Amino acid sequence: MTRRVVLAGGGHAHLAVLADWARAPMPGTMRTLITSSRHTAYSGMLPGWMAGIYRPDELLIDLAPLAERAGAELVLADVVGLDAVGQTLRLSTGGDTAFDLLSLATGGDTDTAALAGLGERLLPVRPVNMFMDRWTQFAGQQSAASKPVVAIVGGGAGGVELALAARAALRSICAAPRIVLIAGPGGVLPGHAHGARRLARKALIQREIVIETGMTTGQPEGLELDDGRLIPADLVIAATGSVAPRWLAQSGLACTPRGFVTVGADLRSPSHPAIFAAGDIIERSDRALTRSGVHAVKAGPVLAANLRAALSGAPLRQYQPRDATLYLLSLGDAHAIASWGGLAGSGRWVWWLKDQIDRRFVSRYTAGWQAKGTYP
Ligand SMILES: Cc1cc2nc3c(=O)[nH]c(=O)nc-3n(C[C@H](O)[C@H](O)[C@H](O)COP(=O)(O)OP(=O)(O)OC[C@H]3O[C@@H](n4cnc5c(N)ncnc54)[C@H](O)[C@@H]3O)c2cc1C
Repeated sequence: MTRRVVLAGGGHAHLAVLADWARAPMPGTMRTLITSSRHTAYSGMLPGWMAGIYRPDELLIDLAPLAERAGAELVLADVVGLDAVGQTLRLSTGGDTAFDLLSLATGGDTDTAALAGLGERLLPVRPVNMFMDRWTQFAGQQSAASKPVVAIVGGGAGGVELALAARAALRSICAAPRIVLIAGPGGVLPGHAHGARRLARKALIQREIVIETGMTTGQPEGLELDDGRLIPADLVIAATGSVAPRWLAQSGLACTPRGFVTVGADLRSPSHPAIFAAGDIIERSDRALTRSGVHAVKAGPVLAANLRAALSGAPLRQYQPRDATLYLLSLGDAHAIASWGGLAGSGRWVWWLKDQIDRRFVSRYTAGWQAKGTYP
């Protein structure tokens, strides 16, 4: 009997699954990848792209050849509904797709609830492809004489990197861009150790980025801070963290109070054993885990092994992350900050390391490796 194995989402967590399928046959299965768009952006290089360091093709991974090698049908559509009991996905293109085994890794949605009042000025960082298009358009409208004001909401790693990248990009076009970073009440890089936070603040201040802390809401002309001040802005980038996709709420799948998919260390749903999930769409029942590409990528091989194990009835593996995760933050100008547990450092050498790691990751899934016919 042929079993229908479906991957929903062609991002960080599923790349290793596709590579696994390309490496070794999956007898007795019919495989499908459902994802929003043909290209997926490697988020670690997104700030570098924005800063003008990388071309789009250096961070975009074409899923079509990867799916082909994996023997998977590529369906370009958004999942808009899931019936966990009936084992079907509803797609934005109309119709349902049935599955015997499903892996969910569509990521999270950007939390823009407080910013909706900005209207057209709001630019959420996800979907990344839309972000890239709209940023290109915005930057293209600037000239040497313009004085754009760009605000970035979110003081996490993504927000800090995007603020520095926006500054680098606009400084190459106009003399006087104004960049404002609005970090939440926890300040810049909450959750990171003192040394990394100090280095990030220093880098932002040195590059004339204005830092505000506190809650903010979107108004038609800009951002209102919780002390009542208004920051007019031409563009507001939301790097505010993830909320769960809304379609999960009606799925019948066990979800956490915040609406994310509940999984254990084996990445399997405790309510529906035919469903696995990884990346930003999950919350672990056994431990807290920061949403990051590092965890999505490192969970990938475990997910791949467990999908095979679920088909054969073999024991499942567990994704047990290390205690500390290495974060490398681009500063927009070939410098970077490293944050690893209580340790932090910065400089050109960190950028060099980050560049090597990021390029190597993308090259695993792009033309060079495909030409060799193998995915490491
Ligand atoms: C600017 C920025 C910089 C970042 N830098 C880093 C970093 O340096 N290091 C780090 O560890 N993390 C970083 N992150 C976080 C990292 O990007 C995420 O944690 C990671 O992408 C999560 O992987 P995922 O597989 O869950 O989702 P994603 O990689 O987001 O993949 C989701 C995929 O699903 C598709 N999709 C989305 N919705 C649907 C749908 N409804 N139906 C079908 N397909 C869908 C998307 O097109 C995409 O292909 C960064 C994030 C941002 C925004």
